[in-house]
Formats: sequence, C-alpha cells, structure tokens
Amino acid sequence: MSERADLVIKNAAELLTCGGGADDLIGVVRGGWVAVRGGEIAAVGGEEAVKPLISGETDVIDASGRVVSPGFVDCHTHVVFGGTRVEEYFAKIARLSEDEARRRGIRTGILTTLEPTRELPIEALYEETAARVRDMIISGTTTVESKSGYGLDREAELKQLEVNRLLESRLPISVVSTFLGAHGVPRGTTKERYMDFLVNEMIPFVGESGLAEFCDAWCDEGYYTASECRVILEAGLNAGLRPKLHEGGYSYIGGAEVAAELGAVSADHLNYDPRGSLRKLAEAGVVGVPLPGIDFAVGHRLPFDPAPMIEEGLELAIATNCCPGCWCTSMPFIMILACRRHGMSSERAIRASTIAGARALGREGKIGSIEPGKNADILIWNLERHEDIAYHYMTNPIGVVIKDGRVAARDSRLARNA
Ligand SMILES: [Zn+2]
Repeated sequence: MSERADLVIKNAAELLTCGGGADDLIGVVRGGWVAVRGGEIAAVGGEEAVKPLISGETDVIDASGRVVSPGFVDCHTHVVFGGTRVEEYFAKIARLSEDEARRRGIRTGILTTLEPTRELPIEALYEETAARVRDMIISGTTTVESKSGYGLDREAELKQLEVNRLLESRLPISVVSTFLGAHGVPRGTTKERYMDFLVNEMIPFVGESGLAEFCDAWCDEGYYTASECRVILEAGLNAGLRPKLHEGGYSYIGGAEVAAELGAVSADHLNYDPRGSLRKLAEAGVVGVPLPGIDFAVGHRLPFDPAPMIEEGLELAIATNCCPGCWCTSMPFIMILACRRHGMSSERAIRASTIAGARALGREGKIGSIEPGKNADILIWNLERHEDIAYHYMTNPIGVVIKDGRVAARDSRLARNA
C-alpha cells in the first residue's frame, strides 16, 4: 500500500513541469496528472501513469480547465522590515528632487526604515512581516528568500535573521535566509570601520550561528565598490555562506566580474551590466535576477532589458524584491511586469519564477519543477492557459497552493491548519 498516493491532481488543462529537458522552457503537458506521496512528487504524466496510484484514502483534486505549475520561488526579497517609505514614493511620483524632498522633511533611501526595524520588538517585527508573507503564500509563493540589511548593527541584523527562522517555523513556506549586512553604511561610523566589523565579527558569527545560508552585498556607486564586495563575499565563503550580489542596479562598477569569479549563485538587478559582463556571468553559471518590481516602483530611468541577457545564455530568474521601496508580495504581478514592460515571453517569465528561481537559491535539486522526488510544492491556477498569468490582471489568479503535499491556501485564504 505504500505505493499509493496521498494526493492526486488530475486532468490539468496544462501541467507545467518546468523540468529539465523541456524544449519550450516550461514543459507543458496537456491533460497532465500528478501524484504526491509523503510530501514529495511520486509520479507525473498522463492518466495511465498516475491513476493506478489512487486508493480509497487518496485525495483527488480535479484540475480540469486549469493550469497546474510548481510553486513560485521568490528568490530576492527584503521582506523583514519595519516602517514605510510611502512619503518618498509619492515624492518620486511628484518628481521632487532629492534636495526638495529633504527640504520638506521627507526621508529617502534605505536608512529611512532602519530605525523602525531596529526599534520593533522581535514579535512585532515578525507580525508586520508575516502579514506580507501570508499574502505571498496565497499568491502562490512556496519558497521565499529573505535578506537582512535593515538593521546594520549586530542586534538588529540578528533579529531580522531570527524572524526568518520564525516565519519558516510558523507558516507554510520555505524561507531561505541571506545575510546582507553590506546593504549600506550606518550613520555614525565610517565604511572602513563598518566593513571591519562585518568581515571580522558579524559574518563569522552569522556563519557559525546557522542563521543564514547566503552572504550578499550591494555593489553600486555610493554603496560598496567591486573590491569591497569581494572582501565581504570572501569573508562569507570562509564562514560557509555562499555568495549572492546586488550589482548593476544604478551604475556598473564591476560587480559581475566579482560574482562570476567567486561563483555566486546569483547576480541581481543587472540594469547597467555590459554584454561582456553578462557573458562572464553566464559562463560561470551564475543566475541573473533582474527585478521588474523595483524598476516599476522607482520609475527606473533604465529598466532592465532581458534580450542581451538571454542572448548571452544567462539563466534568468525574477523576484518581487519585496522591500520598503517596492511593496510587492505577488509573483503573478511581477510576471505581468516582466512580460508587458520588459518583453519576456510568458514561458520565460514562468520559468524565471520557478526552476530558475530555485537555481538562484541553489535548491534546484528539491524545488522549482514538478518531477518525481521533488518537494510537492504545487499550484492550481484559476486560469486555463499559462499565457493568461500575464494577460489577466487579476487580484489573485492562484486557486490552490500546495506546500510539501498539503493544501496551504485555497481561494486566497490560508488553510485553517496552515
Ligand atoms: Zn535587493
């Protein structure tokens, strides 16, 4: 009887496997069936492959007329923060200069939300964050990456990483934790002193604590130089933290070369990266993570262009970049932007939200596609064709969210036991 499935999803209008070897990027199977056992995918294919696994105890969900896909992997967020930058958002919409905004008492930049993040007790910070993460779950995200970087001191950075752990233990979502102490330089110190603190105290401690899996930095004019990022990411590697890098978002100062040479899992933003640098990333197997949400939210003067990235052979993932400067929790909304504003095909955007997102987190062996042996993170969309994800601008196109083989959300509500 151990052969029998716990759950079967039958007769999907389109089953998007997103597995290896698909020549259409997403592996569409019409009339596809999936069997789940013990929280993992047991079988995938047509009726004949899966139906024999149904027993009296198997839950069967009929997906007729609906798309079935892997859960979305949101591989770049700063979802743990306190406070808001709504005043800055409207100042930018009104086209106020930075000086004019400052004159009117409007604070700008990432340091705006530093104090609220530092001041909130951990449970309050958890609650503010969990509200956003619940919204991510009902919108189909089954794995989210979450960075620190709004504390920029020992206590507040560790508090953010601790919130990551609480989120994963209390909500039906996998949380991949990244230490981003090099998100800025706090007031009242110099960059040299702060880097010394990061490299010699904080990063070794975070590595030891097991509170993060990745180390990240922000390589851009006015933040950290390429050589500074190299020092930070090498400290991360020495502490057992794999590198990721924000680079090329607002200027190009050589971040891609550092990401490629250090074997980063991902290089994120990429608005200003020249072709030669994109090629180096591709050759090094780094996943490119351009961010449609931030380009939209800040009215970016140079929105990223995926065409040269694709031509250079870069695997592309997309993500919400949920943060105070881009308050977005919805991967479907990001797919709309990726297609309509940046010219991605629906297949490219879906791949970028599933298996490529998993690659950007080094987890492609367990998540991101519907293949036997992978975690049963599966979505049933309220849509009949995969193209509709970027064509129907719905509140939420995701009907059922299955996390580790169990229904986590249905019709925009978290399951009672989730
Ligand atoms: Zn970011």
